[in-house]
Amino acid sequence: MLNIILFGPPGSGKGTQAQNMVDKYGILHISTGDLFRYEMGNNTPLGLKAKEYMSKGELVPDEITIGMLENKVNANPDVQGIIFDGFPRTIPQADALDKFLESKNTEVTLLLALDVPDEELVKRLLKRGESSGRADDRDENIIKNRISVYKSETS
Ligand code: AMP
Repeated sequence: MLNIILFGPPGSGKGTQAQNMVDKYGILHISTGDLFRYEMGNNTPLGLKAKEYMSKGELVPDEITIGMLENKVNANPDVQGIIFDGFPRTIPQADALDKFLESKNTEVTLLLALDVPDEELVKRLLKRGESSGRADDRDENIIKNRISVYKSETS
């Protein structure tokens, strides 16, 4: 399997690059942010729980996030590879991913880190917020919190 982790702060272009790779390699794209937004849009218990954290720019707890990710991978057993976009974001998530992939006799092939200056991230996210419909892209304080959570918990 070709398993790629796309790593980088919010607004660095992970989703855009993931789409380019899906087009090129035909592998499954899993964005934990998109999965949470889908659950939120359907008002599921998971979505309502995730909203408490996402609306503040905080990370959703590991247990919930890891369980959701594993379910998504298990639901797609025949794929040639996976692009992980926005996962892992903490050390326990990274450990869980290693163990999970090992249990499937595979591993992380490559990690690509996108590096973009903070001011550019804020500019891009505010611009995206004009059309994305994402509340967490419209408020500069929430955007700055997401960047600071990336630095303290993810990078
Ligand atoms: P994103 O779409 O990747 O910018 O993620 C949007 C929000 O979803 C984040 O600010 C977090 O609240 C939540 N989220 C996405 N991925 C994760 C993750 N791996 N761990 C915890 N929270 C996450």
